Amino acid sequence: MLNQKMVGLGTQRSVIRELFEFGKLRAAEIGAENVYDFSIGNPSVPAPEEVNATAKRLIEELDPVILHGYTSAQGDAGARALIADSVSRRFDFKVNADNFYLTVGAAAALCCCFNGICNPGDEVIVFAPYFPEYKVFIEKAGAKMVLIPADTAGFQIDFEKLEAAITPRTKAVLVNSPNNPSGVVYSEETVKKLAQMLRDKSAGFGEPIYLLSDEPYREIVFDGTEVPFLPKYYDNTLISYSWSKSLSLPGERLGYVLVPDQVEEHELVYAAIAGAGRALGYVNAPGLFQRVCAQCADLTGDISIYETNRNLLYEGLRDLGFSVVKPDGTFYIFPQTLEEDDVAFCERAKDFNLLIVPGVGFGCPGHTRISYCVPTERIERSMAAFKKLAESYR
Ligand code: PLP
Repeated sequence: MLNQKMVGLGTQRSVIRELFEFGKLRAAEIGAENVYDFSIGNPSVPAPEEVNATAKRLIEELDPVILHGYTSAQGDAGARALIADSVSRRFDFKVNADNFYLTVGAAAALCCCFNGICNPGDEVIVFAPYFPEYKVFIEKAGAKMVLIPADTAGFQIDFEKLEAAITPRTKAVLVNSPNNPSGVVYSEETVKKLAQMLRDKSAGFGEPIYLLSDEPYREIVFDGTEVPFLPKYYDNTLISYSWSKSLSLPGERLGYVLVPDQVEEHELVYAAIAGAGRALGYVNAPGLFQRVCAQCADLTGDISIYETNRNLLYEGLRDLGFSVVKPDGTFYIFPQTLEEDDVAFCERAKDFNLLIVPGVGFGCPGHTRISYCVPTERIERSMAAFKKLAESYR
């Protein structure tokens, strides 16, 4: 018999994919310009020009055997050194090449962390709303995901609920700020409180609780929002990063795990992450893009387009009576639905050709995720459809 869990994962289409397919059918019927697809989080701004220029130059310059060859499992040493320079400079925090393990995007970085640090039965705490793949990754590592309900007033952390959920089995607390799907960034106050709670609990248990920070949206923030660099606040922090969103390179699959020297027994933790990468068969992250991302590590795509889109949607939805927390970054907004049943709400939205994702899949029912990594004119044209949707509830 096949592994039924894997058969299930391979055959069930995600809600987002269902919507995407529906959108294609609807576009064939009424024209693509009349379908307002806000389902998928695929960056809509092109990668900076330097990315392609760097790739072309490297293809010309590098010895072809090196260009297309394996790199060391943790990534090319020169690439890791450049990334370490960029991170040290930008966050005023000293790291070096040996703190980085390059991965096949943030997804693989997370899988290396979960598999590297968790033993069967360990628990990983996740805050709603959350990126649904976390559960798949955590369970594949033999651990259990413990979900903390959302603090929907501002999508910061509900510390009472967190404290009640931490047990001696808690191996890690996973945070994602800027957050998919709320767009919210954790304030410095939240981060300090979280760090203190984890220090106290770790001391009580005599075992570290790792703070795992998933940050593919780190650079996509608006209005000068600062995203606290967590290793400055909590020593046992592991960072999972990716260039999928910041450089608009999701198809190239490049990211890293950062294990700072401050992590207790950091060399062993790094070894466990490398061991997980080996056991999962990742071998090494894509070679050409290790070098491209390293040389472009200080750059970000043109996020002003996302900011324009955020402003249009935030103001437009509020004017229509939606209750919504203003996103600090990412390209998602997560308003409350106009009826309690978010699945029914998103079904009704389809009648107005609005493709938006129910919050229940993100562990936060009563909300809907709208991805605004789309052309600005789609948002402008969609406001009439949002208006009709809102009016249908009056
Ligand atoms: N984490 C979050 C919160 C995401 O939204 C995504 C992708 O959408 C990922 C991780 C995976 O990113 P990557 O494409 O780098 O694997």
